[in-house]
Amino acid sequence: MSKDLDFICPKCNFGLHFYLYAYVVNDKGERVFCPPPDPEATARKVLGPNVTDELLKRRTGLNESFMCKTCLMEAVLDGSKDPQVCPACRSRDLVRTKDLLKKTCPKCKKGAIEENPARKAQPVV
Ligand SMILES: [Zn+2]
Ligand SMILES: [Zn+2]
Repeated sequence: MSKDLDFICPKCNFGLHFYLYAYVVNDKGERVFCPPPDPEATARKVLGPNVTDELLKRRTGLNESFMCKTCLMEAVLDGSKDPQVCPACRSRDLVRTKDLLKKTCPKCKKGAIEENPARKAQPVV
């Protein structure tokens, strides 16, 4: 069992990653990871010393992991800013990865998704 996975199905070993982290969009349009416990410090560093609160708000967000129920691919999206479309198959049938916890495994439909016992530290904001 991979320690790398956050959620797993004990029946079929299907696994998912769980991400939830703050990001800031740099001048190239790339999302830069803002580590806890002070993501705003990174955001201000990326945007420069003269950044306004309004710009800070517009250029920052939260990325979260989703899973496509059609093709079982994982996607990391900003749930409040990005269109919720699977990048692999264009399906709109995405669920938040964290909402799969304790639910029936989407792959084997037999097991229930649980937190990977081998994984201790959760990457949260
Ligand atoms: Zn898909
Ligand atoms: Zn399963």
